[in-house]
Amino acid sequence: MSENKAQTRPGQQVNHPQLRIRTVRTPDGLFVHSRNSGLCVLDPVAASKCWLRPLYAQVAVTERCNQHCWWCYTSSSPSRSTEWDTGELKELVRFLDSWGILGVAYGGGEPFVHPGIVEVIRYTWENTGLDVSVTTNGYAPTEEQLDSIEGYASEVRVSVRRPEDCAVLRRFIGRRFDLGVNLLLMRGSAHVTDELIDRCTEVGIDDFLVNSFVAAGRGAQHRHLEPGEEDVAALCRAVDRHRTATIKVSGRLAARMKTSGHRYRFVPFSGEVRGRIIAITADKRVKPSSLSQEAYPFDRPEEIPEIYARMVSGNVQ
Ligand code: SF4
Repeated sequence: MSENKAQTRPGQQVNHPQLRIRTVRTPDGLFVHSRNSGLCVLDPVAASKCWLRPLYAQVAVTERCNQHCWWCYTSSSPSRSTEWDTGELKELVRFLDSWGILGVAYGGGEPFVHPGIVEVIRYTWENTGLDVSVTTNGYAPTEEQLDSIEGYASEVRVSVRRPEDCAVLRRFIGRRFDLGVNLLLMRGSAHVTDELIDRCTEVGIDDFLVNSFVAAGRGAQHRHLEPGEEDVAALCRAVDRHRTATIKVSGRLAARMKTSGHRYRFVPFSGEVRGRIIAITADKRVKPSSLSQEAYPFDRPEEIPEIYARMVSGNVQ
């Protein structure tokens, strides 16, 4: 073996000083990811029989938020108080790193109202091989917080719901992290999604994630606003119209788009297959996804892989 090559086990980080490559074996193949370059490669030959570890952990650092949206599935608000202690969050990411997953996506609630969020983001980047993403409503982070995370997060995603909210995006453009926009499809709102994509692409943003509104949390009594077939069809037309943008959709929407008659090229992992990610709540529970009602409490991070294995196999009570 030459000096430049190293044999790796799935989940192991290759100690390449520039690339920081990490591999995870999945049912779709061996996923190779470089945090620093953004390189993603999938080798379908080396697929595993089932999910052995998730690719990402979505970590809700707090239930608190500076907003009080009626559609909020976590029922977040300024008065909620449950959140991770900063020291415990560091312990959690150290464990997630040792487990061999690719990265963490910090969210909430609104992560930038957590007093330790900048410290935790910088700690994760400097002390682990985990990729770091953070999702915000765009209004909470201060200029100082945004300055302080530049170079320590590979991606910041801003959730935008209304055209007038697009003004907030200016604060995020041109910084040393990738910028993406999260959108929410509701019944009758596909034209808003379409307009938001237009407005964002005008200012150079071309990375979108469209989620489906789910009647949960504070939005529980609005089931009639979950998107219908006509909304999915309108989203398909919006995707067609913005061919140069990268438009990702939630597993829930992908499943419906696949049966809509439109022809799309879906990348792997686009289904709602259990195991691709895990969600970790602010009150220390593990869920198969942030929207799931299933949740399993834990005391120590070391308990997470066993809960995950039981969730993937369906052997949970
Ligand atoms: S939807 Fe987002 S911005 Fe609105 S209250 Fe919930 S966490 Fe906050």
